Amino acid sequence: MNNKYADELWLGTLSKGEIRWVAVGMTNTVEEAANRHHTTPVATAALGRLMGASLLLASSMKAEEAITLRLLGDGPLGGVVAVGNAQGEVRGYVHEPQVDLPLNPQGKLDVSGAVGAGEFVVSRSLSNGESYTGMVPMISGEIADDLVHYLLNSEQVRSAALLGVMVGKDAHVAGAAGMLFQLLPDASEESIQALEAQLARIQGISQIAADSSTMAELVAQLIGDLDYRILEKRPVHYQCTCSKERVSETLISIGKEGFEDLLKDQQAELVCHFCNERYHFNEEELRELYEQSK
Ligand code: ZN
Repeated sequence: MNNKYADELWLGTLSKGEIRWVAVGMTNTVEEAANRHHTTPVATAALGRLMGASLLLASSMKAEEAITLRLLGDGPLGGVVAVGNAQGEVRGYVHEPQVDLPLNPQGKLDVSGAVGAGEFVVSRSLSNGESYTGMVPMISGEIADDLVHYLLNSEQVRSAALLGVMVGKDAHVAGAAGMLFQLLPDASEESIQALEAQLARIQGISQIAADSSTMAELVAQLIGDLDYRILEKRPVHYQCTCSKERVSETLISIGKEGFEDLLKDQQAELVCHFCNERYHFNEEELRELYEQSK
């Protein structure tokens, strides 16, 4: 495990508050996702980038609210899902974690080839129990571009985003990070040009994440000499919401016939998609749940 620095999400402003920024360092969190799901490097990169995107988007929501992002692409990964919230908790999975592809012509992990063409779907779960879903066609499948495209087309927010995951030769995650800049309506042309010039200087966020030894260094490298303020820092970690109780509820909902099949087997094992945790039920537990379901 990479323990260089703890994963964090930082929020701040640029240019006297005309631009809002969010940065996330998530090397350990993406490493945990890769370990849980046994992903190949390209699957790790796609999953890690989408997890980062969910944290960046969720950062402006209330504590109990969450963002679910889905890449419904026709590529070999068969879909990627990530859920993040404003407390820095994130989880996710890919449908086909074992997919491997050759590097793209730039010598990078071929995330867009693995994701394919399709829809970028964003669902917001709000604290009042409502949820809203918006979707746009993916423009590249590289995820950062798709996030910017979504924000512009669905939420009329002008932004720039960087998302990167570097997987080392030993298959460990060497660096993973994301950054989102959102222009507020009063952003001046001068501030926008200064930001564009800085973005053009950044060679690759995953390399910067791998080379940084603190979160402060990561943020400083990404923002360069632009005038910035840090407003808040939050911890980030992989967190699933599953439990034996919740899995039991799923079992109860399968109905009488499905249950009778399970009882014949005298045991059942359910696996959580999001964290790969296995939940085992013995015959006695199954009988108890069966009684409850009637
Ligand atoms: Zn789980």
